[in-house]
Amino acid sequence: MPQGDPYDLIVIGGGINGTGVARDAALRGMRVLLLEKNDFGAGTSAHSSRLIHGGLRYLAHLEFDLVYESLRERERLLRNAPHLVQPLEMVIPLYQGAKNPPFLVMIGLRLYDAFAWGKRMPDHRLLGRKAFLERYPSVNAARLLGGAVYFDAQANFPERLCVENALSALETGHAELRNHTEVTAIRLAENGLPCVAFRDRLTGREGVATAQVLINAAGPWVDDLLRRTDRRMAVAPNEQPLIGGTKGSHIVVRRFPGAPATALYAEAQSDGRPFFIIPWRQDYYLIGTTDLHFDGNPDHVSATMDEVAYLLAETNAILPDARLTPDDVLYTYSGIRPLPHAPRQKAGKITRKHLVRDHASDGFPRLLSLIGGKLTTYRRLAEQTVDAAICRYRLTRPDGRPWGRSVTGNLPLPGAAGMGELERYVNEQTAMQAVDLPAEAVAHLIRLYGVRYRAVLALCKEEASLKAPLTEGCADLRAQVRYAVRTEMARTVADVLLRRLCCGLNGDAGLGAVEAVAQVMADELGWSEEKRQEEVAAYRQLIGRTALAFKK
Ligand code: FAD
Repeated sequence: MPQGDPYDLIVIGGGINGTGVARDAALRGMRVLLLEKNDFGAGTSAHSSRLIHGGLRYLAHLEFDLVYESLRERERLLRNAPHLVQPLEMVIPLYQGAKNPPFLVMIGLRLYDAFAWGKRMPDHRLLGRKAFLERYPSVNAARLLGGAVYFDAQANFPERLCVENALSALETGHAELRNHTEVTAIRLAENGLPCVAFRDRLTGREGVATAQVLINAAGPWVDDLLRRTDRRMAVAPNEQPLIGGTKGSHIVVRRFPGAPATALYAEAQSDGRPFFIIPWRQDYYLIGTTDLHFDGNPDHVSATMDEVAYLLAETNAILPDARLTPDDVLYTYSGIRPLPHAPRQKAGKITRKHLVRDHASDGFPRLLSLIGGKLTTYRRLAEQTVDAAICRYRLTRPDGRPWGRSVTGNLPLPGAAGMGELERYVNEQTAMQAVDLPAEAVAHLIRLYGVRYRAVLALCKEEASLKAPLTEGCADLRAQVRYAVRTEMARTVADVLLRRLCCGLNGDAGLGAVEAVAQVMADELGWSEEKRQEEVAAYRQLIGRTALAFKK
C-alpha cells in the first residue's frame, strides 16, 4: 500500500466510542482520520436503552468501580451536554419474594448516592406501600411492599451525542471524518506502521491511509475488523473472538393506560431479569430490554416475536391496566452489546466494564481494539484509549514535545458551549421572540441543537421557505435538513431522518417526512429527480428491512 503522510491515529468505527476517541485526540492536536462504514452512531449506539446511568444492578455483581466511574461520567454529561442528557426520575417497586430482596435494593441505593457525591440530583427516597400506591396507582399491588424513587439520566438521542462528538473533532481542524466509508483491509506496512484500505460505499471511491496507531472501535464488529488484517497477525478467524455479543431488543409504544409518569425499573416476573419502562420524548414509551447471547452478523439484527411477547407480557404483569398487545407496538429495535467474549457466563452477568486490547502480543503492534463499554462511559474510555496509544507507542508532536492530557472532562459538547442550565436557556431564548417562529418550535430546536439552534434559524432567514415544517404538524423544519447536510455531514436521507433530525424515530418511522427531506437534500446536493427517488426508495426499503418496520 502506498504511504501518505501518516495520521497520528486512524479510528475505525464512528459509534459513541469511535467519535469520542476522535474528539479526544483531535482536541489534543493529534491528526486523526475516522472511518465509519455507515453513519455516525448508526450501530449499537443508536439501539441502546438511551440511559446515562450508573448501572444500579452492577452493584449486585460487586462492580463498584464501574458504578463509581459511570456515575462520575453521568454527572459530566449532564453538565457538558445538558441539551442532550437530562435527569430522569426512576422508580423501583419493591415486592415480597423478589429475586433482589428490598433490603439489597436499599443498600444499593445508599451506595449509589454515596458514589455520586456532589451530584446535582436529589438522593433516593423510600415510599411505604400506601404512599407508593398513591403515587403509582397503576402498579400491580399484589405482594407490593413499597418502592424506591431515585434519579439517573436519559439521552433521548444518543445518535446526536455521536454527531456532536464528530463535529467537535472536525472543528478542531485536526480531524478528517468520513461516514459511509468502510475499512476493507488492514496491514502492517514495510515501515512498521499500520495501514488501512477503505472504500466509500456511496461513491465507490477507494483510498489507503497509514497511522502511528490504529484504533479498532467497531463495537460488535471488532472481530470482523480483525479478520480483515493481513496474515502477519495472530488473531485469525478461528481464534477465540474478543467480542461475545449479547442482543438486546426494545419495543416502542405510545402512552398507554396506566403508563407511569416516571421511568419504571422492575424485575421481570417470568425470569427475575431487570427491565425498564421509560417515558421517551413526549409521546412514547421505550420498553426493554432482552439480553441474549448472539453470534450472528451484527448487520442483520432484529427483535423476534418471542422477545416482543416477553416485553409485552412483563409490562402487562407489572402494569395490569396496560393490556398491551402486539398491535400497540409502533416499532422495535435491537442492538448487540459489544461485551467481552464469555460464552459460559449468563448474558446478564457479563461485565459491562471496558478494556483496551493492544494487539502487539498477537503480532500486530500499533493496533488497539476497544472491547465493551457503555454509552455512559464513552468519554472516559476515549481518554484512556488515547492515553494508551500515546504512552505505549511513545507518540509525540512533530517537534518531539509530548502530547497534552485529555481536555474533554470539563469541555461542553458543541451545542452546549455557553448554554448553562437547559430550561433556563429555553425560557430566555423563547422569551426574546427575536424570530418569527412559535416558542415551541424554538424550544424544539434548542433541545436538539443546544445553542447551535441559531445556525438553523440563520438558514431560515436566508430562505423563508426553509422555515416551513417538513410536513403539516411536524416539529422539524426544512432548514434543519439543509443544516444537516451543510454542517453535520449527513449524506443520505436515512442520515437526516434517523440521526440528525431524529424524526425517523417517531411513530411513523419518518415515512411521512421522507419526500420532503429528499427534496431539500436534492436542492442542496444537486441530485437529479432519479437520484431523489432512489433515495426515497432506499429509505422506505431500510425501514421495511429493519426492525423499525415491525408494525405490519
Ligand atoms: P457502535 O455504536 O456499534 O459503533 C461501531 C461502529 O463501527 C458502527 O457504527 C459500525 O458501522 C462501524 N464499523 C463496523 N465495521 C466497520 C468497518 N469495517 N469500517 C468502518 N466502520 C465500521 N449503554 C448505556 O450507557 N446506557 C444504556 O442504557 C445502554 N443500553 C443498551 C441497551 C442495548 C440493547 C444495547 C445493545 C447496548 C446498550 N448500552 C447502553 C451499551 C452501549 O449502547 C454500547 O456499549 C455502545 O453504544 C457501543 O458503542 P461503540 O461505539 O463501541 O459501538
